[in-house]
Amino acid sequence: TELFSARKSCTTCPYCGVGCGVAATQESQPGGGEAVIRIQGDEQHPANKGKLCVKGSSLADTLGNHGRLLKPRLHGEDCDWETALDYAASQFRETIDTYGPDSVAFYLSGQLLTEDYYVANKLMKGFIGTGNVDTNSRLCMSSAVAAYKRALGADAVPCNYEDLDEAELVVLIGSNAAWTHPILFQRMQAAQAKLVVVDPRGSATSEMADMHLAITPGSDAALFNGLLHYLTEFGALDQGFIDNHTENFSDTLYAAAEWTPEKVADYCAVDLDELLAFYELFRSTEKTTSFYSQGVNQSSSGTDKNNSIINCHLATGRIGKPGCGPFSITGQPNAMGGREVGGLANMLAAHMDFTEDNIDRVGRFWNAAKMAQGPGLKAVELFNAVESGQIKAVWIMATNPAVSMPDARRVAAALKKCPTVIVSDCVADTDTARCADLLLPATTWGEKSGTVTNSERRISRQKSFLPKPGEARHDWEIICDVAKRLGYGEAFDYQGPADIFREHAALSGFENNRDQGRRAFDISALATISDQEYNFFTPLQWPVNAANPNGTARLFSDGDFYTPNGRARFVAVDPQCPKQETRDEYPLIMNSGRLRDQWHTMTRTGRARKLLDHSEAPEVHVHPQEAQEFGIEDAQLVRVESEKGQFFGRARVTASQKPGQLFAPIHWSDSLAHNATVSALALPFTDPLSGQPELKQVAVNIAPL
Ligand code: SF4
Repeated sequence: TELFSARKSCTTCPYCGVGCGVAATQESQPGGGEAVIRIQGDEQHPANKGKLCVKGSSLADTLGNHGRLLKPRLHGEDCDWETALDYAASQFRETIDTYGPDSVAFYLSGQLLTEDYYVANKLMKGFIGTGNVDTNSRLCMSSAVAAYKRALGADAVPCNYEDLDEAELVVLIGSNAAWTHPILFQRMQAAQAKLVVVDPRGSATSEMADMHLAITPGSDAALFNGLLHYLTEFGALDQGFIDNHTENFSDTLYAAAEWTPEKVADYCAVDLDELLAFYELFRSTEKTTSFYSQGVNQSSSGTDKNNSIINCHLATGRIGKPGCGPFSITGQPNAMGGREVGGLANMLAAHMDFTEDNIDRVGRFWNAAKMAQGPGLKAVELFNAVESGQIKAVWIMATNPAVSMPDARRVAAALKKCPTVIVSDCVADTDTARCADLLLPATTWGEKSGTVTNSERRISRQKSFLPKPGEARHDWEIICDVAKRLGYGEAFDYQGPADIFREHAALSGFENNRDQGRRAFDISALATISDQEYNFFTPLQWPVNAANPNGTARLFSDGDFYTPNGRARFVAVDPQCPKQETRDEYPLIMNSGRLRDQWHTMTRTGRARKLLDHSEAPEVHVHPQEAQEFGIEDAQLVRVESEKGQFFGRARVTASQKPGQLFAPIHWSDSLAHNATVSALALPFTDPLSGQPELKQVAVNIAPL
């Protein structure tokens, strides 16, 4: 076909936290036929250097208006935007006036762009006056945030992807990176680092690793306490680093001392020789990176698990150096950007906690009408408050909590009886949309513009290359339109995302110095960038400030941490068992996670035939021993049941599971198939520090259907 023109936009993939650069080329056809979109990896983007995984390379197959929400819908009827926005504003205004600001909440998403997040956070925490802004990132990496803050003084990921290229040993903990972060896994393989996988189940990642420690679910902290003890016993401590740059080492070592290799092997149910081989490999390999994600975080003691890993890096001085460090990998494309603006209920903005000074500082910067005076409700608490009637109006943006939250069907029931539920989404029919009074059509990938931050702190652009479909609007526009109707027009009078970004960058540097509590997140050098510079933004890693105008690849190279005294903190960890334990009625433990070719609740990836081919229906992985004991054949339909509910799927009998454990992919939901929501079975136990739910450990029973 002869092409009339081709227009290329450099943007980023909307799926995982790797944040791959994508080149989307729109090729118009002769005779005015519909333009063809071609997707390739962006060779200039440092995260992926031109590569894409199967999800990213299938993005063009997920475009189109089928199933899209294209008009506002109020109480099931299409309406115009004026009616929709007036309704949203009046419901919020009446609720706030009658019950106070803490009676309303926003629930956001790591799918939103930073600019969307920024205006939502500003409206709620600076003008409505409550901290009730939380996000689905709470389910993903809030324990990593809490642990970094405890140890390093800030939510500051020390490492970058080049560390994976340079590492001689990568320890993957609770991560099936070959499927969940494929481009990073390819980088590890290309670098020929030794790979050790710590994961209760066998996976595509463990199959390609040099060693697999299939520990008892939830026993990670004991494994790393034992490693700290071993490193001490065998002379691998960096005493100079410990003395000069850390504190609380002796208490931490004291807590770890009881974790001898024998005790760890018994507690974690791993072979002692294999355990010692891992410990010795870690001890003897200077360039070691620990790479961890939801398997560590989705736990009732996820923060402690994170800290037990960080302790081993601090003890050996393996942080702030090439190839080294404790590297938490985010699940979503902009979990990091949401953290930066304050999208977690316990953070105010720009990595500031809710201290008196910070509330005053941010209030002055925003010229705020009413500042929130303290943290709001974290995700599980927030939906509990919806259920109890404390929250009477909730606005959910770009996420599907009726599927993803623990005890998900109870969350859906709570939403259905909540007086006001507003859902902004690009998709018309989700389990959460079915609970909404008002549906607001939002633009999505390819249509919206802004920035995202990936797992290595790299800020990149997402760019629109398609027009807004139907009557869809950008999330930041919708939020600003409601803010104007609430009477805050002056503070929300943005001309576009570049305006919002400049303000966000200026706030990050506002009174950011050591005397006033130095903050890690600082992109003040970008506060004056022009629209042109924003449009052609070169991906940069924060901090981007006067001292580091071209960004900062690696943090803590100078041993100066973000704590008040500049020293990193060891955290003494007492390993805790998961809250959910097996018992007679529920004798098995169910783990959950992603498949290679699907993303979240499949609202996008479910549109691509090629991606569905990998697995077309809900499934549950069962060890042959359980299959025999419970009378289950491979591919047979089974019911998995917990005290909270049931889930139907096809059995996949596989020895990659350990006996006593099941695994179910998270992607299906009740709106896609009968009884298909896996999170409906999880109990809402949370980590006491981070509020992250224990989604990885659910006591269940299984039976053939
Ligand atoms: Fe890259 Fe993740 Fe997108 Fe795959 S899903 S292309 S690894 S950002």
